[in-house]
Amino acid sequence: MTEDLTDIVADIVASMRSAPDRGRVAHYIPELAKVEARHFGIAIATADGQMVTGGDADMGFSIQSISKVFALTLAVGKVGDQLWDRVGREPSGTAFNSIVQLEHEQGIPRNPFINAGAIVVADVNLGGHQPRVAIGEMLRFLRYLAGDDDIAINEAVAASETASGFRNMALANYMRAFDNVRHPVELVLGAYFHQCAIEMSCRQLALAGRYLMLDGRHPDGGRVVSPRRARRINALMLTCGHYDASGDFAFRVGMPGKSGVGGGILAIVPGRASIAVWSPGLNASGNSQLGTLALEELSSRTGWSIFSPP
Ligand code: GLU
Repeated sequence: MTEDLTDIVADIVASMRSAPDRGRVAHYIPELAKVEARHFGIAIATADGQMVTGGDADMGFSIQSISKVFALTLAVGKVGDQLWDRVGREPSGTAFNSIVQLEHEQGIPRNPFINAGAIVVADVNLGGHQPRVAIGEMLRFLRYLAGDDDIAINEAVAASETASGFRNMALANYMRAFDNVRHPVELVLGAYFHQCAIEMSCRQLALAGRYLMLDGRHPDGGRVVSPRRARRINALMLTCGHYDASGDFAFRVGMPGKSGVGGGILAIVPGRASIAVWSPGLNASGNSQLGTLALEELSSRTGWSIFSPP
């Protein structure tokens, strides 16, 4: 890369400020609908320890489905490859909250990043405990990864989704009928809704994602997951991280990435960068409109697509 990263980020922030179409903020969780669409933030943690930020990089937002990456990391740590007996590894080609494939596939969700898959992962992470134990473990994990004890849950968002999450209740009950959800549905969803309601800034999220750019290592030297697991999580992010628009994201950006309906995206460039972007307006597939555009511009200016030669 010949251009300076700070200049690239400043240009991206400027072009996002004047973008004509900012997408539409998610409404199906009432509390999320209160967030203003005008925000845009970006943070890049590089493998050599730099942090470059722009826009609203320090404003907290609801990480929503991005939490599924960290929940998956915890679950494979607990049960290893046995997880794959209960969750598939194929792109779904359907919306994040789709129920149709579950019927064809005997209650086995297509992948851990659609809601059904994440609910099974939450069931694994409960491990016979109360939701508050699993939620506490998730918060400790994120605080350790980001080196920041201020990461917390937005209780209003958790309550809002608990009151309106009928579709997730249907998914969980349906999988319970196949014994692929093994704890009481209310407990599993209690853990799942709270994990989605974790609030983080772009800076905190980019820091938390560093183990995925460092082949499973925490920058402090500790091992979070084995290199093989880190590569597999990145592979799943590339193929399944953007719901039925995962192919489009790989085509346009060329990085493993995971989006959430709060408007955040975590993108990983192995060996180089952990990137978080946030803008709450979503495109038709439920992914951040400006976040995707910003990553597309970043990828083309830096040559960080994982498909470019080193
Ligand atoms: N909590 C959200 C849900 O389950 C997460 C969806 C998302 O971010 O895509 O509906």
